[in-house]
Amino acid sequence: MSRQIYINGKFYPQEDAKISVYDHGLLYGDGVFEGLRAYNGNVFRLHEHIKRLYESAKAILLDIPMAAEKMCDAVNETVRANRLENGYIRLVVTRGSGSLGLDPNRCSNPQVIIIADSISLYPQEMYDNGLEIVTVSVQRMHPAALSPRIKSLNYLNNILAKLEGLKAGCVESLMLNHKGEVAECTGDNIFLVRGGELWTPPLEAGILEGITRDAVIECARDAGIAVREQPLTKHDVYIADECFLTGTAAEVIPVVKVDSRTIGTGAPGPVTRDLEQRFKRLTQA
Ligand code: PMP
Repeated sequence: MSRQIYINGKFYPQEDAKISVYDHGLLYGDGVFEGLRAYNGNVFRLHEHIKRLYESAKAILLDIPMAAEKMCDAVNETVRANRLENGYIRLVVTRGSGSLGLDPNRCSNPQVIIIADSISLYPQEMYDNGLEIVTVSVQRMHPAALSPRIKSLNYLNNILAKLEGLKAGCVESLMLNHKGEVAECTGDNIFLVRGGELWTPPLEAGILEGITRDAVIECARDAGIAVREQPLTKHDVYIADECFLTGTAAEVIPVVKVDSRTIGTGAPGPVTRDLEQRFKRLTQA
């Protein structure tokens, strides 16, 4: 099915939705993006995603050529134009087309692109039985080099980690930071359950501040579960009672094996299942 793609205020059929090969989004990965979800025609946590988009843009000195409120409207319009009830939305803002050379000041017209499409989640079997992941040798980028809090078009760090995981037979990979602490997975945040508490790396570990992560922390607090954002080691992961990942595309997905170690009983645990249900209710609210 051909989608209607939003580019700078207009809709184009998928086949005709094009931007310049001189765009620095393509030439240098110079730009920012968001991945969002629609549930029953409503975009989940739209304002939070738009806020993060503008913060990412600010961090890279990219002026988005429209107000945040208008961007929210544009996302909703794109969802409607594609009659998308349940699906995934990709919002991209590039630096715009410029000359061959890094200088962003020579770029004009940042391109605002919105795609609303279906989503291919992990297979249901992985939600039922849990994922196996591996720690990879590719470190999460040093926050002083390029902050992982910026959701930029430059995802090579994550792609290299993903490739290493895939070669080891795992669809998701665990990345450590420059200090050897647990950071996050290539497209998901990580949580552990230990002694009835929920543990997750803090933002200072050099991670993306996931919208799903925030939502799950809220769910845990509602459930009366203590949440600790604290530095974690691989050892903490290995001895956890439960482990799960969160992300817009993945939602909440249990992890039952890490680096060949069985986590907890080897089956998705009760706290994970409870938080999965609570998160689902939030998306359907
Ligand atoms: N970490 C990384 C590196 C990501 O790319 C993502 C989003 N795919 C996440 C975490 C999860 O963030 P969110 O819950 O906002 O989708």
